[in-house]
Amino acid sequence: MHDAVISRPSIIPRAEHCISRSDISNTALKVLYGLKEAGFEAYLVGGGVRDLLLGLKPKDFDVATDARPEQVKATFRNCRLIGRRFRLAHVYFGRDIIEVATFRGAHAESGDSAAGVVSANGQILRDNVYGDRDEDAARRDFSVNALYYNIADFSVIDYFGGIEDLARRRIRMIGDAAQRYREDPVRMLRAVRFAAKLGFDIDPDTAAPIRDLAATLLSVPSARRFDETLKLLLSGHGQASYELLGRLGLDHALIASPQVESASTRTFHRQGLANTDERVAANKPVSPAFLFAVLLWPVFEESVAREAAAGAEEYASLMLGAQTATRQQNELAIIPKRFALPMQEIWTLQSRLEQRRSRRALRLLSHPRFRAAYDFLAMREAAGEAVGDSVAWWTDLQQAHPEQRKDLLEPERRGRRRRSKKRQAVADLS
Ligand code: ATP
Ligand code: MG
Repeated sequence: MHDAVISRPSIIPRAEHCISRSDISNTALKVLYGLKEAGFEAYLVGGGVRDLLLGLKPKDFDVATDARPEQVKATFRNCRLIGRRFRLAHVYFGRDIIEVATFRGAHAESGDSAAGVVSANGQILRDNVYGDRDEDAARRDFSVNALYYNIADFSVIDYFGGIEDLARRRIRMIGDAAQRYREDPVRMLRAVRFAAKLGFDIDPDTAAPIRDLAATLLSVPSARRFDETLKLLLSGHGQASYELLGRLGLDHALIASPQVESASTRTFHRQGLANTDERVAANKPVSPAFLFAVLLWPVFEESVAREAAAGAEEYASLMLGAQTATRQQNELAIIPKRFALPMQEIWTLQSRLEQRRSRRALRLLSHPRFRAAYDFLAMREAAGEAVGDSVAWWTDLQQAHPEQRKDLLEPERRGRRRRSKKRQAVADLS
């Protein structure tokens, strides 16, 4: 357990804060009232309270209660218990899910019980020790995330000066920051994510231990690290998150660009993330495959150049380069295959988009990854890479009426070397 003194909270009555029930989703209200009517305490917590107090629209609503998971399940017909590391109740309303967490309590210093497991270096591996509201508040990460909206009297309960930190726009860790990062290194990424999303500063004491502890992120399971990377870079605040990750020395733990320090790599990443942020703002879909294609492009290019210098022919150097770049990233956090394969296709289509002006270009238009590869090419141009006039050419080709498309094609070169069997096979695959 960390050293945060469990303090008497301040209680802000309904008349003195801006949260109105009309801001809270009907489904969250149903859960809050359902628990209250069953005789339990029920609070809106986390991002829901924080964002409403800032006048923002919350992404989702989390509920905390003194009811045990089994009691939550008995209260709602439409409820399922999930999770091992954290046991939680999910209450379903069609596609809407309200997450209900039972108050968490303090852990023993280190060791193993059925409910809680803490590793020798202080990392919390399982967290199913239940407690009361005071203990629950002290287990949360940042002061602005430890505010409770009480459905019993509509007051807001503030344990660690979260209201003041919202006003001063700062992310401040509850308790001793270094110790809290050791318990769960992902909290370093969460500090960055909230600062970037809200435009807040990270309090100096909260930021100070991060650089030295950045490497502890490698002990976090790969899937969780991958998810957090997506939350940081793909939620509309990618550019701001990236800058902050760089300033705190966390980028090396997430992105396998050995040249992440180089100015050209950073320029390229910035361009890609600016592009992604714009798409999110415009409600357009964004994909992890495209994001990682951007982040690892410099590694891919370097690997391809190395293979080519060692004598591999063009196709082989592209394939080997793609494999090497993927492998390097997988050492940090495994990219699931469903994202890794399209990412590699985006890369290997680039040289074809830069070169092909002949009849086979028309076939490329119906390639399932054409659109992503074309967007990627446009992004490379925007980042200042030399791609000739290929973006304009492909734009014209797509816009042309199908009948007129062949007028844009260059004639097949005569006397062209016959393609090897292998190359032909690859062309046929596309
Ligand atoms: P978002 O807007 O992204 O949903 P959030 O603050 O609600 O932000 P969640 O991941 O939904 O974040 O978590 C809900 C709450 O649970 C947090 O506000 C925080 O109080 C607590 N919490 C979540 N993850 C951690 C963690 N790793 N360590 C401590 N507390 C956490
Ligand atoms: Mg939340």
